[in-house]
Amino acid sequence: MKYLIDASVIIAAAGAGSRARLGYNKILYSAEDKTVVRATAEKFFGFRKIIVACADADLPLMRDIFADMENVTVVIGGETRTQTVRNALRYAEGEITLVHDGARPFVSRELIEKCVTEALVNGSAVPCVSADCAIRSARGSVTEALDRKNIYFVQTPQAFETQALKEAYSSCLGDYADDAEVFEKSGRECHIVEGERTNVKLTYPDQFFNRFGMKIGTGYDVHRLVGGRKLVLGGVQIDYEKGLLGHSDADVLVHAVMDALLSAAGLPDIGVLFPDSDPQYEGISSMELLSRVMKAIHPIQIISLSAVIMAQRPKLSTIIPTIRQSLAAAMGIDKSKVNVSATTTENLGIVGDGEGIAAAAEVLVTL
Ligand code: MG
Repeated sequence: MKYLIDASVIIAAAGAGSRARLGYNKILYSAEDKTVVRATAEKFFGFRKIIVACADADLPLMRDIFADMENVTVVIGGETRTQTVRNALRYAEGEITLVHDGARPFVSRELIEKCVTEALVNGSAVPCVSADCAIRSARGSVTEALDRKNIYFVQTPQAFETQALKEAYSSCLGDYADDAEVFEKSGRECHIVEGERTNVKLTYPDQFFNRFGMKIGTGYDVHRLVGGRKLVLGGVQIDYEKGLLGHSDADVLVHAVMDALLSAAGLPDIGVLFPDSDPQYEGISSMELLSRVMKAIHPIQIISLSAVIMAQRPKLSTIIPTIRQSLAAAMGIDKSKVNVSATTTENLGIVGDGEGIAAAAEVLVTL
């Protein structure tokens, strides 16, 4: 197999990524049809070997993700980052080995090549950026300002002579924050190179939401008006001689809202999630179903919801503020993000004839 750079890179991808609160390993997050870990690994094109060290549970999926990249070897990592790199190092070949976080997809090719070159000359290359805000140390409730001129944030990829790194790992048992620390603990010196501020490690939910755009969802529903039923719209009971017919409480507005949310999240609609053939949903409050939908779409964040109720009667204008408040509370978002309007259909069609009430909803979310 031909390669351009006689170096291996270990992609450390065995963590849980739990701080991202995605409910699954953050490196498996997909943006524009590419997972974070794949986007990260692709930055190392031309390398002799790309060793992706992942958790046992993610192994089949990882093999799938990298099936078409012939220089990728997927291996099982360990309980800790140090253990993961130690396992993966057995597969490293070539003069230089880099270790890179699986959640740093924004690293530039320039930095990668600089690390390889500097490690060839100096034995190692560890990218660092200077602290760009004031730093304090804390001991209990007492804090003390530190001179930030002497503080650096350490990034990856960290590059080392392969043989020296293997020796460092075999002489240092225990767990360390990164490879530079292992290298130093083994009595070797780390050569520092300038890192990049854009080379961030994806860690927290807002980093995923802000970087990877938004989605829109649409929902629509209609229910028949009949005597002897309560009229509930947006979780608010409304005085009227008729109510909506349905398996649940037939809250047509909440049904449209739920379908909009599920659609934005790429999930099946409420007919699939809460089938009307299932007796457990008989007479159930749609607000209860909405709270289940909110759990299902977690951790998606709602930017705004816009809904319209189509009803010839009753007049809804005075009740709309209460409905807005009710929906906002159920979704755990501010009322300013929820808007609801009402319209008649000029006596046309089933709504205009007073046979039913319809509702449509659109929602904008960040993923
Ligand atoms: Mg419905």
